[in-house]
This record gives sequence, structure tokens and C-alpha cells, in this order.
Amino acid sequence: MADKRVYNFSAGPSMLPLEALERAGKEIANYQGSGMSVMEMSHRSKVFQKIFDDTQAKLRKALNVPEGYKVLFLQGGASGQFSMVPLNLIGKTGKADYAVTGNFANIAFKEAKKYGQISLAASSEDRNHTYIPTQSQLKLDPEASYFYYCANNTIFGTEWQYIPDTGSVPLVCDMSSDILSRPVDVSRYGIIFAGAQKNMAPAGLTVVIIKEDLAGHELAYTPLMMNYKTMIDKDSMYNTPPCWCIYMLGLVLDWLEGQGGVAGMEKIKHQKAQMLYDAIDASRLFTCAAEAGSRSDMNVTFRTPSEELDAKFVKESVEAGFTNLKGHRLVGGMRASIYNAMPMEGVEKLVDFIKKFDKEN
Ligand SMILES: *Cc1c(COP(=O)(O)O)cnc(C)c1O
Repeated sequence: MADKRVYNFSAGPSMLPLEALERAGKEIANYQGSGMSVMEMSHRSKVFQKIFDDTQAKLRKALNVPEGYKVLFLQGGASGQFSMVPLNLIGKTGKADYAVTGNFANIAFKEAKKYGQISLAASSEDRNHTYIPTQSQLKLDPEASYFYYCANNTIFGTEWQYIPDTGSVPLVCDMSSDILSRPVDVSRYGIIFAGAQKNMAPAGLTVVIIKEDLAGHELAYTPLMMNYKTMIDKDSMYNTPPCWCIYMLGLVLDWLEGQGGVAGMEKIKHQKAQMLYDAIDASRLFTCAAEAGSRSDMNVTFRTPSEELDAKFVKESVEAGFTNLKGHRLVGGMRASIYNAMPMEGVEKLVDFIKKFDKEN
């Protein structure tokens, strides 16, 4: 069946490494002689506890997570964090700074306003989120409880190329769509969170990496399940965690290690993205949605001069063995999401297809 797989450029849920899927397939009904599937196990069993501990350790190693930080395996998606972050952190001063560089950052910004005084530290809305503001454009409040931004704007195809310097104000970052694609200095952050379904595992798992001393200062009405302290104290097992997704993350992390870890992945992902951007820039027909200097290595957004040609491109791309290249309605055109699991070969074939389409139209 593996030979019938398509090059799936979906923005998420997206491709998983074939190696991880095949291992899961082999172990699906009887995990390592346990006589049962990981899906059927008690989350309190020894067998599952080992899967959990190993996966957590692998993630800590992959991202070089320092002492003083906890890795949590939660549910509720990245969107759940839009509420969980202010509920737990805003209490310090009642204020927070948000950089709105895309759709998800904007949702997080609006959600946070329910809980405190939220300032727009930067916005790229003036040019439909085609760029990332520079450090000097950030309006920083030294009294903010935290500074929030989204590292990679999945819909618009822009990515922060620097870590904002906010002095002593803790950084909170939504890394849903570029986590594990490059090394990251975790010690610069207060909280990093990510929905798993782009670069890590199946949907249903939310990874949170939190500096421990930020927890325990939640607003009084914070729901039990949205309290970082609850989850830290119970090592993410206050209730049933997303067991299957955690197991899958472990398999994906094994595959990642074989690619040279995040440092190896950074080279590969950059090469893949550069090939696509070069083909787009060299074409007559195609233009990039994102401005140079802000382009994402994970989501490449581009278009032709007309909606009719865009539609033709998408239709013919399906016939050529690609899928999910239609852009998000907020941007139009096309979007190629080339997360870690997209093989180099898939990008090479898409580049050939772009060149051919450019010649023929
Ligand atoms: C997909 C995505 C989200 C939403 O994730 P859910 O897990 O569906 O809530 C949030 N932020 C970014 C950057 C995303 O790419």
C-alpha cells in the first residue's frame, strides 16, 4: 500500500513519516508482546508508563530542554492554549503583549482579552500578514506578564526569523507548525506550545514546554483541566492523556533522530523550501504571497496572476499525484505545506510540476 501514497501537502493534519506509520502498523494489535494495542492499554500500566517516559525523554533530548522546564502532553489543541496561557500567566500584572502576525495569533489575541489588558505589540494586518515585524517595530511593555507570538503563520506562509528580545518579560510562543524543524533555545522562552498534527504526531495531542516557576499563579476561576500546575503535579496524567498520540510521537522522534535530529532537519527543510521558492521566483507565472525575509520554510504560499489559472493548477496537481495544494481562503492561490515528513522527492516532483505548468500556460 505504501507505494500508493500521494504527496500530501496538507497544512494539518499532515503527512507522518512512513517509517513511523509502518512501525505502528506492525505493532497495532499486539504491542511488543503485551497482547494488546497501545490504544487498549491502561494509561496507568507499566507498559504505557514506559512509552510515556521514553517519549518525554526523547522530546527533551530532541529540543535540548533545560532543567527547570516541564514537558506536558495535553489535549485541547493549540487553540486550548489560547485560553490556558492567559488564565495561568496574566495574573502577574494583569497585562500582556501580543504580536498578531496571522490568523491563529489573532484568535489568541482576542481570546486573551477576556482575561486582562492586552496590548497589540505588533500587527502585520496592514499588508494582509505577508511579513513579520522587525524587533524595532515591537511596542514592548516592560510590565507585561508575558509577550505572545506565533513562530510560523501556517495560513499566510510567514515565519519569524528571530526570537523577539523582550528583556525580562517571558516569551510565550505558538510553535504548532514549525516545532522540531530547527533547533530552538528553549531557555529563551517561558512557554512553547504546539498542536501535534503538523510536525509531531496525529491530532489530539498538544505539547507544552513550560518554565516551571510560571505555573501556580493562575486566576482563581481557572478550570482544573486548564491549570498548568495540575498537569505539572500529575506529570500530564491528572486524567487520561492522549495515549496513542504520545506513542506515535515517540515513533516520529525515533525517525527524526535518524535524520540527524532537529539540526539535521533544519538543513533538509531549508533545502526543500529553497527549491520551491527558487522555482517560484524563476517562473513567469508564479509569485510568492509572503515577502522576502519573512518566508516560511514550512508553508509556501504562492499564486498565478488569475484565480482561473490557480484553479487549473490545483486541478492538474491532483491528476499529477499531489494533494491539498489549494491555498487557505484568507490568502487564496496555493499553499504547499512541506513539514518534516514531506520527502525531498515530493518537493522535487512539485518543482518539476511548477516548471512544466509555467511553460505550458
Ligand atoms: C493549526 C494551528 C493552530 C490550531 O491548532 P489546533 O490544534 O487545531 O487547535 C494554532 N496555531 C498554529 C500556528 C497552527 O498551525
